[in-house]
Amino acid sequence: MKAPVKSSASSSPAISRAKKEEATALFALLEEHEHEQVSLVYEPSSGYRGIIAIHDTTLGPALGGTRFWNYSNDREALIDCLRLARGMTYKAAVAGLNLGGGKSVIIGDNKIRNREPIFRAHGRHVKALGGRYITAEDVGTSVGDMEFIKAETDHVTGLIGKSGDPSPVTAFGVYRGIKACARHRYGDDALGGKTVAIQGCGHVGYFLADLLSKEGAQLIATDIDQGKLKAVVDDFRARPVAPDAIYGVEANIFAPCALGGILNDQTIPELKVDIIAGGANNQLAEERHGDMLEEKGLTYAPDYVINAGGLVNVNAELEGWTMERARNKAGEIYETLLMLFEIAADESMPSYRAADRLAERRIAAIAKVRQNFV
Ligand code: NAD
Repeated sequence: MKAPVKSSASSSPAISRAKKEEATALFALLEEHEHEQVSLVYEPSSGYRGIIAIHDTTLGPALGGTRFWNYSNDREALIDCLRLARGMTYKAAVAGLNLGGGKSVIIGDNKIRNREPIFRAHGRHVKALGGRYITAEDVGTSVGDMEFIKAETDHVTGLIGKSGDPSPVTAFGVYRGIKACARHRYGDDALGGKTVAIQGCGHVGYFLADLLSKEGAQLIATDIDQGKLKAVVDDFRARPVAPDAIYGVEANIFAPCALGGILNDQTIPELKVDIIAGGANNQLAEERHGDMLEEKGLTYAPDYVINAGGLVNVNAELEGWTMERARNKAGEIYETLLMLFEIAADESMPSYRAADRLAERRIAAIAKVRQNFV
């Protein structure tokens, strides 16, 4: 078998001007968000094309899932990988975990049947980074794929028989986050009698509905999948509405638990709630929509703060997983959100910016301690 081809950014005279420009652009991309390292590997026998981005390892090894996706070009794949890796740094820092931020992408058709060579190659790639990067499941990959990676390296989590499906812990963290928002907004975190509109009745949405209904909250729910919606309606007496109607319902809390980009120019003017707090990733279509929520006087729980339970769950696996341990740590999202709302008020900034501030402060503080006390 031919050895994998590793990228290098050498300035050989043989590379054309265009290639030089491309290489410069590559480092400009890393510089933009201060990424520490990017590794690219092509393994010819399996056709594996993988990128691993390590954003920041101040707090610990960079953890982030492997996304398997048919990107339309390599640059798009790289930019996605860099963006996701950076997001993981912030998520881990705010969650109080001793982890840095990283991510990997494999470029290709994620429906491919013969997965072992691809994921064994990815495992070799992860191993080559010597523990600076730890991987896990993400879009287009499965627990079975993680087992192939495990055959090559120990730097993988989310394995069969270990921490398993993270969504109950994610939902618990979202539930605690909703209570923190209620306390901030109403001075009391009790949810009995409050109305919560849930968008998406999948893994997170279903477990969240269970926790909310046990506390006596009234539920409104929607899903494009009628079977998933029926389960929440039947099991928790939620009132069903059509997918597009969820934005305009009268409720105290809107809990997005489906897609990203749902807080945008069209939906924000429709909202008739006080609080937005849900598990979906990347809820703001653009950062400026976080400012729009602020201007409208809404309490917004930044998504990467309130949905950190999934990462907490995977981290617990690294330290010896128990459900109790994972839930306890995810429960701290309550205190974190209250702290974040305080920063937002003290420094007159929207909550999504306060979240970034909290993460950056923790990273800077730990870096300083290490620098001053070796
Ligand atoms: P899931 O696929 O189980 O559930 C998503 C649900 O949303 C599905 O039932 C789907 O039919 C529904 N949906 C899709 N489009 C919709 C629309 N336009 N309107 C209404 N419903 C729609 O996924 P999940 O694991 O429950 O994750 C939900 C969200 O939370 C995702 O954004 C995910 O990235 C995020 N998240 C999940 C976890 C976790 O532990 N599962 C952790 C962190 C973040």
